[in-house]
Amino acid sequence: MSEHAKLPDPAPSPKLAAGKVECNACPVLCQISEGRSGACDRYANVGGVLTRVDPVVLFAKVAGESGEVTRFLGEDEWSGELLPDAPVFVSGVGSGTTYPDYKPAPFIVASRHAGVDMVTVVTEGIFSYCSFKVKIDTDRYIGPECAPVRNKDEVVGHVTTMEYGSQMLSLGGVHHLTGGSKREGRVTCDLMQDLGNKQPVELEIEGGAHLVVQADRPPVINGVEERRMRVGCGSATVGIFARQWYGHVDEVIVVDDHITGVLSEHQAGRGLDMRRGGIRIHGRKSTPGRYFQVANPGSGWGGTDITDPLTIIKAIDPEEAWPGERVLMVSTTGEDYAYFVLDENLRLTPAEIPAPVKKVVDRIGENCEPALCTVLFLAGAGGSLRAGVTENPIALTRSIKDLLVNVTCGGAPAYVWPGGGIMVMADVGRMPDNAFGWVPTPAIVAPIEFTMRLEDYRALGGHMERVRTMDDVLKGERVKVVGWDAANPWPIG
Ligand code: SF4
Repeated sequence: MSEHAKLPDPAPSPKLAAGKVECNACPVLCQISEGRSGACDRYANVGGVLTRVDPVVLFAKVAGESGEVTRFLGEDEWSGELLPDAPVFVSGVGSGTTYPDYKPAPFIVASRHAGVDMVTVVTEGIFSYCSFKVKIDTDRYIGPECAPVRNKDEVVGHVTTMEYGSQMLSLGGVHHLTGGSKREGRVTCDLMQDLGNKQPVELEIEGGAHLVVQADRPPVINGVEERRMRVGCGSATVGIFARQWYGHVDEVIVVDDHITGVLSEHQAGRGLDMRRGGIRIHGRKSTPGRYFQVANPGSGWGGTDITDPLTIIKAIDPEEAWPGERVLMVSTTGEDYAYFVLDENLRLTPAEIPAPVKKVVDRIGENCEPALCTVLFLAGAGGSLRAGVTENPIALTRSIKDLLVNVTCGGAPAYVWPGGGIMVMADVGRMPDNAFGWVPTPAIVAPIEFTMRLEDYRALGGHMERVRTMDDVLKGERVKVVGWDAANPWPIG
């Protein structure tokens, strides 16, 4: 039994009108009429009782005929019945929130794994400090680093660094949720909820592109759906395919906004003892065969603004070039290419691309992965939310750092950042659909689960008096059973 006194129910507002119930699941304290829901649509007044509108989502692992764990894609494909002994995991989706956080989390559920007693503490956290990090696979220029990103004319984030084949955005965050106008906070919150729920969102980058971004879908940049993520930078592309071009072509220039590669000058060409081609290109030479800034950034070849590759040619050196020299120009995705042969006057003359050269161009395309938007949820769970887990919050933080506690978000594995606090990051693509909500404070509502050995939970000062069995949950709660995504590791174990 608990050593604490039984907590009194919060006193409703003295101004509460007859027939209404007060929701105390967040600081807004909605007063809800019979048959209506509160501002966030998560809680409703059902017959005078405050009720979480959605059922809590349980994941079930089920073996198919082959004995393999199968993936169920949606509730339509699921009978809702649990097989005996089927492993079940209670997720935070639909679990409800216990505000203010001195109250234990809504679900603290015991289970047994490999003869060990386990427990999972489950809640829907209200996160003011959270954001989404979006990776957009594209070479195309979407805007300058640090540029504001807008949705519905409000700034909701900014462009961060260009990474290898991808442009990164940071969207949401406490600054936009709380630090600007009321409208900025509301627009930011709506956008974050949509992103987390795998819906498409429209973004306008100052000085850059118009984007449509959706988790695990190709980005749409200025109305054009991106198809390929580049094989590598221009220099890497030269290095990868140098041997396959050798003997079929005399010079290859891989056009890239960042590092354009020139095969015969490049270390790869030198290693193959290739004759120097003598074709000089614009830009700043970094090292042999590697050039920066050959053009401006844009939506053309290799993320530059060029559509005619000859515009990056500065000169042809008659000391090195020769009539009949075979030259390929190609982009980092292989989508754009042109083949030339130098004529008697050392002019680049378009010619039909030979089959062996075209085969390597096609191989560049074959080595490109599909371009996607990847959306990661980043949230700070190191605040008062911890009190729903334990009466000694620092013990939870330490236990997570000591790897005694497995943190998941809607069942998706969460990466916990090193250093202070409990900064978790999870791929929304691995979470169930519609796992995110919001409250008008404004803040984002997201599922989070902490799974550990029961003994460890006791040791960190857990709310042992609130530990329930799975049977108790199944009998006493409205639940929705969905199949486990076999791509995720099972959290209990
Ligand atoms: S916004 Fe939602 S959680 Fe907050 S008080 Fe209103 S109904 Fe309850």
